[in-house]
Amino acid sequence: GNVAGLVSGAAERRPNAVALIETTGGATLTWAELDARVSAQAEALAAAGLSAGDRVALRLPTSIDFVTALFGVLRAGGVAVPLPPQAPAAELRTLLDHSGARLILGSAPEQRPDGGLPETVTALAPVTEGTARAYGQRGGGEDVAVISYTSGTTGPPRGVMLTHRALLANIEQFQRIEPPALEQFDRMLIAIPLFHVYGLGAGLLQMAAVAGTVVLAERFDVARALADCAEHRVTAIVGVPAMYAEFAALPPDELGGGLSTVRRLTSGAAPLHPKVLAGIRAATGLGVFEGYGLTESAPIVTSTLVTGYPKPGSVGRPLPGVELRLVEPDGSGEPVPLDPTDLDDTFEEDGGGTGLVAVRGANLFSGYWPDGRYGPDEQGWFRTGDVGYLDTDGDLHLVDRANDLIIVNGFNVYPHEVEDVITELTEVAEAAVVGVRDEVAGEAVKAVVVPATGASLSEQQIVEACESRLARYKVPRTVEFAKELPHSATGKLRRMRLRG
Ligand code: ATP
Repeated sequence: GNVAGLVSGAAERRPNAVALIETTGGATLTWAELDARVSAQAEALAAAGLSAGDRVALRLPTSIDFVTALFGVLRAGGVAVPLPPQAPAAELRTLLDHSGARLILGSAPEQRPDGGLPETVTALAPVTEGTARAYGQRGGGEDVAVISYTSGTTGPPRGVMLTHRALLANIEQFQRIEPPALEQFDRMLIAIPLFHVYGLGAGLLQMAAVAGTVVLAERFDVARALADCAEHRVTAIVGVPAMYAEFAALPPDELGGGLSTVRRLTSGAAPLHPKVLAGIRAATGLGVFEGYGLTESAPIVTSTLVTGYPKPGSVGRPLPGVELRLVEPDGSGEPVPLDPTDLDDTFEEDGGGTGLVAVRGANLFSGYWPDGRYGPDEQGWFRTGDVGYLDTDGDLHLVDRANDLIIVNGFNVYPHEVEDVITELTEVAEAAVVGVRDEVAGEAVKAVVVPATGASLSEQQIVEACESRLARYKVPRTVEFAKELPHSATGKLRRMRLRG
């Protein structure tokens, strides 16, 4: 199949149902109207000389134009390369060069003195009478549909090649959850970027598959989001922890009132703090279902929707059709023994060993652009770089990224464990722990702490809290205070920036 077939499918089943609503300006489109626009876009691209496999960059905010452009490129047999629209020109140029995009849909960054930018189509194709569904789809299946650049929290951006098959597989895997997590009557608020595969795959494509309604917000503003939920009778929100933290900080009756039509909240991309989960449940009666995914898995791997109950600190179980196992992080790829007596001293509820999360399934990517390297291994497994363990129920807990591990005198320190102790202090809003070079110990632990509004907090308080709960080598050697921590577009902590 072709991912753009989701739109024609929805248009056939529910032509007059509202597909998209823009919160800014209130523009709406039905599925039939969207389908016609997508065909017009595909036709315009073909007329501009687009050939199968040509890359087309999308530089558009979360909007109707983004959705039209994406499906138009796919229907025309092209490869969509969604780019962060707010990224600085230099970063955009790097991604444009790297992807070899022929065209940009959306606004172009400034030309370089030597030219060399791809041709730019700033206006999307107008819809003409009769274009609707006259345009046959080109390509699909094993053809690459999207090259998605990872957010670069751990290094230079990498272009993840996702085929039509992989994206459609993840939709099907998610839809095998019983009872279904999303249905055609759902109206989902997407206030996260669509250029990232989380909003795109777990939000837009899932909703197209059920022919529901998507409410598109260009950016997240907590007061606006509540008003939009009420105005558009939103039933589902696909979000990131930073959004839910802002919801949880509102007065409970305001939040409960604002989300009164909502039945389904999901969170992914970064860890959801149990305090936030509890705050939202207290105000709304709703659980936030946490999921875990990666760009490389298009994107969902696990979700607490699989078991049907949110569990604080856990990201749930693999979707039906996705296999997961924990392997030795030493590179041998050996499965870690799942022997309950082999408890890691750090994690006591551990039902087995702590290991690197490896994943297998039809949703996996086919390597990094352009040469397809570092894709799944010969048996189809992909080693994610995330370290986790399974609890005694078999639910996955993520510990940290293997790259974030701090090694002090040969002892492993998981940043998360130290961060959890620090954030338990009521005076702390947020904390990050990183390793800094140390001549004697190799690395030393550094904490960067954001005090809660109006709270006074000393370095000594933090060190004492850690000393009372943690082994000595885990206690921060230095503590810095900051107004905020650096985050990516999906709310991921950019630890690299804190190491310096
Ligand atoms: P780069 O690889 O360039 O650093 P990135 O890893 O941020 O970018 P993404 O594909 O955007 O690329 O993010 C996937 C990562 O996000 C996962 O490997 C995991 O570390 C993290 N993640 C996703 N969901 C969760 C979650 N629920 N809890 C904690 N971490 C999560």
